[in-house]
Amino acid sequence: MSAPQMEPLAAGEPCLVVDQLVKTFDHHTVLNGITLAIEQHQVLTLIGPSGSGKSTLLRCVNLLEKPDAGSITFQGECVTTDGVDVNRVRRRMGMVFQSWNLFGHLNILDNVTLGARKAHKMPRDEAESKAMTLLSRVGLADKATEWPDRISGGQAQRVAICRALITDPELLLLDEVTSALDPELVGEVLGVIRELAEDGMTMMLATHEMGFARDVSDQVAFLHDGKVLEQTTPDVIFTEPTHERTRQFLGRLIEARRI
Ligand code: ADP
Ligand code: MG
Repeated sequence: MSAPQMEPLAAGEPCLVVDQLVKTFDHHTVLNGITLAIEQHQVLTLIGPSGSGKSTLLRCVNLLEKPDAGSITFQGECVTTDGVDVNRVRRRMGMVFQSWNLFGHLNILDNVTLGARKAHKMPRDEAESKAMTLLSRVGLADKATEWPDRISGGQAQRVAICRALITDPELLLLDEVTSALDPELVGEVLGVIRELAEDGMTMMLATHEMGFARDVSDQVAFLHDGKVLEQTTPDVIFTEPTHERTRQFLGRLIEARRI
């Protein structure tokens, strides 16, 4: 047999590879060698106790925090080296936070388009046409000229998802996007995320909604003390986790009737 050929770079390459990531705040090591990968069109869910580093990891991936060591490779490009154009990378990654932070003095349409127009120089026509398509997709086309304080939290979070999608990102990062919502509004936001997953959007999300995580994820990573203790399929992690820590965490959620 001939020697194996080098794979062409793009073929089968993961969307995101996080390798030995370390982040320390004031002598407190929050990420302690995180290693994980997300394949194209897959959903990776981060679970783990409060303070285990989920938000910090998502913020490092979005280049909102600078890691102290390790690397992040996005679509084959190392984005943690000095001199990387942060705006260029962020245009290809969308992020949605727990609190949607819409601008109260701008209507819904302008809230969706502002970042793309200012940070990414997207022409207004193009931005508005994309925004309307996205708002229609999440069932909010009729709210385009409405003000943020006139819509519900669930609607505002769907607007924030549109804002994150307007640059056609190749990766969407979602940090506890339903945690600030009244229980009856959670479903409408999870429904939008589920549809995005079905449409093939690559996503990395942190959530406490374990039923949803089990349902929507291709892979689940359990974080504890700044490390990924295990990354596997939802079926395995929710039925036969390898680590005692994972078992304890899920056990406590079952006791609290969160699963
Ligand atoms: P999770 O999202 O899993 O709850 P976080 O990533 O928010 O965890 O936080 C992990 C730890 O890092 C916590 O102890 C938190 O207090 C600390 N931390 C996060 N951001 C900062 C910061 N900017 N400065 C200092 N400590 C921080
Ligand atoms: Mg968090």
